[in-house]
Amino acid sequence: MARLTALRPISEAWDWQMLGRCRKREGAQFFHPDDDLGRISRRLREAAAKRVCDDCPVRVQCATHALEVGEEYGVWGGYTENDRATLRDVGWRDTVGQERLADVPTLDERLAGARAEAQRAKDRRMANAQRRRVTAVSRPATSPDAGGASGTRAANRQGCGVTGT
Ligand code: SF4
Repeated sequence: MARLTALRPISEAWDWQMLGRCRKREGAQFFHPDDDLGRISRRLREAAAKRVCDDCPVRVQCATHALEVGEEYGVWGGYTENDRATLRDVGWRDTVGQERLADVPTLDERLAGARAEAQRAKDRRMANAQRRRVTAVSRPATSPDAGGASGTRAANRQGCGVTGT
C-alpha cells in the first residue's frame, strides 16, 4: 500500500499531474486490468505506456512521486511496478536533489545495470544447468558397467575386423 504519510498536503505537490501526457489516455494502458493476466500483453501495454512517459514534461515529478509514496501498481514516470521494486533494491533516494526530485537519467542507468546483471546471472544458471546435463549424459559411457573405455576400444576393434587377443 502506498505510504500516505509521505504525501505532501499542498496542491502544488500535485500540480504536475495536470501536465501529464497520460492525462487524457485510457487508464488501462498504465494500469493492468484485472481480467488481463497475460504476460505478453502486459509487457506490450507497459512498453506503450513507457513510450508515452518518455516525452512527458513531468516525468521526473511523476517518477519521484511514485518512488516516494511507494505506488504499488501501474506505470509511473516510465517505471513499472517491477522497475520501482528494482530501484528500491539498488537505491534511488541518494539521487534526489535540492528540488526534491530524483535524477531520472541516473535511475535509468541503475535500472539498466541491474537488468544486465540479472541477465548475466540467468546466463550463468543456464550454462551451469547445461554443463550438468552434459555431465549426466556422458557419465554412463565411461562407467565400468557400460564397458567403459576398454569396452569401446574392443567394440571398435571388432568393427574393423580386428579381434583383441
Ligand atoms: S510520466 Fe507517464 S505516468 Fe507520469 S504523468 Fe507523464 S505520462 Fe503520465
